[in-house]
Order: sequence, then C-alpha cells, then structure tokens
Amino acid sequence: MHELGIMTGVIDSVKTAALDVGATRLLKVTLSVGEMTEAVDTALQFAFEALCDDDPFTKGAELEVNMIRPKSRCLECGAVYEHDRFSMFCPECDGFVTELIAGREMQIDSIEVDLPDDTEE
Ligand SMILES: [Zn+2]
Repeated sequence: MHELGIMTGVIDSVKTAALDVGATRLLKVTLSVGEMTEAVDTALQFAFEALCDDDPFTKGAELEVNMIRPKSRCLECGAVYEHDRFSMFCPECDGFVTELIAGREMQIDSIEVDLPDDTEE
C-alpha cells in the first residue's frame, strides 16, 4: 500500500523532531498532501493509526490532512489554473505544454506534542 510507505516516512521524521525537543508524547500531526501524489486521505488516516498504535509514544495521536488541488501554469499563454489529476490541458488556449506548480507536495505543516512540565535535569 502506497500510503503505508508514505506514512512510515512521515512518522519517522515527526518522531525525530518530537524527540529532539524533548517531547514525551506525540499528539497531532498536520500534513499537506497534493492530489497528484495519488495518496488517499482515508488510507493515510488508516496507515497513520496502524503505525501509531505500535508505539506508546505515538499511540492515540491525531492526523489532519489538507489535500491540495493540482495547479499548473501554461507555458504557451501563461495562464495558471487548477485541474484534476487527469486533465492538465490549459483551459484558456488548450495548450498541453504545461508545468505543474502545485499538487505534488507531501509536507508536514505542524506537529503537536506533550512536553514534560519540569525539566529536572
Ligand atoms: Zn494556455
């Protein structure tokens, strides 16, 4: 499953970042995911829960996914337009020489963690 691979990578980097700041538990992760990655929101949620469940550090954490519509720029006429995964032709001039400028992202927007109240060390 495509999403399981994506999520394994996401959780790895999130955990590293959380441990770096001394967090005791991961609470929430917010992701931006471009539709061109072909990742599916519900499958990402499913993979996230399955992976988080294995580890007390991440167990019960929440995932928020913002899906990003693909956007392209026409190299013939310069129009910038949103489209779906399958039709990328320019709506202005029917050009097909286009450049994808959004829709392939897979980025971690923010994470929320539990920090210990006291730092006794
Ligand atoms: Zn055009």
